[in-house]
Amino acid sequence: MIVAKDVKQLDEALHEARLKNKTIGLVPTMGALHQGHLSLMEQAKKTCDILVVSIFVNPTQFGPGEDFESYPRQLEVDSKLAAEANCDVLFCPAEEVMYPDGPTQLVHVRQGADVLCGARRPGHFDGVATVVLKLLSLVGPHKAFFGQKDAQQLAIIKQLTKEFFLPVSIIGCPTVREEDGLAKSSRNVYLTPQERAMAPTLYNALQSAAQSGERQLKKLVSMVENELSILPIGSIDYVEAYEYPSLKSVDYVEGTVILAVAYQFSKARLIDHILIEFTNRNRGEA
Ligand code: AMP
Repeated sequence: MIVAKDVKQLDEALHEARLKNKTIGLVPTMGALHQGHLSLMEQAKKTCDILVVSIFVNPTQFGPGEDFESYPRQLEVDSKLAAEANCDVLFCPAEEVMYPDGPTQLVHVRQGADVLCGARRPGHFDGVATVVLKLLSLVGPHKAFFGQKDAQQLAIIKQLTKEFFLPVSIIGCPTVREEDGLAKSSRNVYLTPQERAMAPTLYNALQSAAQSGERQLKKLVSMVENELSILPIGSIDYVEAYEYPSLKSVDYVEGTVILAVAYQFSKARLIDHILIEFTNRNRGEA
């Protein structure tokens, strides 16, 4: 595995692959790698000749008072994990490499960023779109792999690459969970033991609402809120439901809907969601 820290090193590492027209797969991450990240790498490795993994804790997607400073950084451990996952090139640039003149220009996401996490974290998706655009420009991958775990991010990035005519396929990969249902996340390390024990309630609540067969979005949201309201610690940041991937407001499940939750524990803010589908087939009218 080649470790590239700047643009020149990255270009050198990819020179031969580009010459030989090899397919390049990119897995962008912020590090603190876990099974979720590794599943994206596995998927990329299956369908691409060369796997590039980036590790960059992107300052422009963190708001004031968020966890940019304390975000877990463990480059040595991550390098080992990436190498074990057969990563070919690990790109881990410093801030000055990604923002050589400071962030003088940012992509502004005008649709899909006004709900869910975008509404609570103003500017977050502008930062995400900006860094993803930079990484795609630098690496020039044929495919880039993102987790369905961050469903709003995935929808926005698919739209970004479509609108900017970027020659890359965005591949969404399934959410990897702990045995008790908690979605794996780099931020799970912030959970106290008591919070960790309660965290699976998020997904359980989403699942029972989805399995209820209820189609009215307001009622689905209330079901999840009711189940979470019994947790003795933490607080609901949001429970919301929208059409997916458009993230437009609808009243009933028709096609695909995302039912999503963000929950604030003492240090960790966890997000999770479930996609609910209702088609003619569900009605037995196929
Ligand atoms: P992050 O390092 O949190 O920015 O995540 C990097 C990539 O890994 C993103 O595309 C995430 O959606 C994805 N990811 C994070 N957690 C999981 C998970 N539990 N399962 C699948 N993908 C994940």
